[in-house]
Amino acid sequence: MMVAMQDAIYEEVNEMPAPDRLIVRYRGIRKSFSDFEVLKGLDLDIKQGEKITIIGPSGSGKTTIIRMLMTLEEPTSGTIIVDGEPLWHQEVKGELIIASEKHLRKVRGKIGMVFQQYNLFPHMTILKNVTEAPVHVLGMPKQEAKERALAMLEKVGLKDQVHKYPIQLSGGQQQRVAIARALVMEPKVMLFDEVTSALDPELVGEVLNVIKDIAHTTNMTMILVTHEMDFAREISDRVVFIDKGKVVEQGPPEQVLENPKTERLNTFLKRFR
Ligand code: ADP
Repeated sequence: MMVAMQDAIYEEVNEMPAPDRLIVRYRGIRKSFSDFEVLKGLDLDIKQGEKITIIGPSGSGKTTIIRMLMTLEEPTSGTIIVDGEPLWHQEVKGELIIASEKHLRKVRGKIGMVFQQYNLFPHMTILKNVTEAPVHVLGMPKQEAKERALAMLEKVGLKDQVHKYPIQLSGGQQQRVAIARALVMEPKVMLFDEVTSALDPELVGEVLNVIKDIAHTTNMTMILVTHEMDFAREISDRVVFIDKGKVVEQGPPEQVLENPKTERLNTFLKRFR
């Protein structure tokens, strides 16, 4: 049953012509915490290589949307497809189907995430923080992992800090290490969850600049949750406004951020003007 259904969904997703190929599809996603329904039938399609920014009021479910992709939260119902493979479970003719842990691990391998809190390993050097997963999760030879880690640390502007420990770096530098640590796994999709909200204001710019550079120089799919509207305007192909558990408006940044169609989005954006 599981196999047959996966194949059917796989074919459906792959019907998309190559440049428009979907990498992520959310369909009818509902999510409740106890009796509070955060997501109320969310539909969202993301194309390969697209840079998407999710905006919306605090508590509207933005973080939950991306945590579900990382399999850190499980939807109450609905379907999520990542790179042609179903994630979590779907209801088929009323039947609940749960993917195996092995399957989830495989899909999870395609996703990288950077959190608000950078959560580096405090007892490891910066270099070790970045080589740890390639060596221990991917089984990459140490030398190769080191070379790749150094290249990533150079990309985020920290090549001269690699032998230090996290505590010796500023918050902005630590967050850039967290970005390098996610990038080194070469995920197909990178998730950024309000990655500057725990930083002192003077450190925000350096982190946003690193993300901008990645957005402008790679064709990696990126999904960002942010309250930085200028940043969203600069890097996004599409801005998605979420409110009360659903997509309310979406489109190119100039349309969504400059010409909101709904009163809800207009009211939300006023806070940033
Ligand atoms: P946003 O990112 O838009 O601020 P979240 O997705 O973090 O919203 O949260 C949406 C709502 O779900 C909030 O009211 C939050 O308190 C609640 N919530 C999120 N995670 C949990 C959880 N693990 N347990 C209970 N409630 C949660």
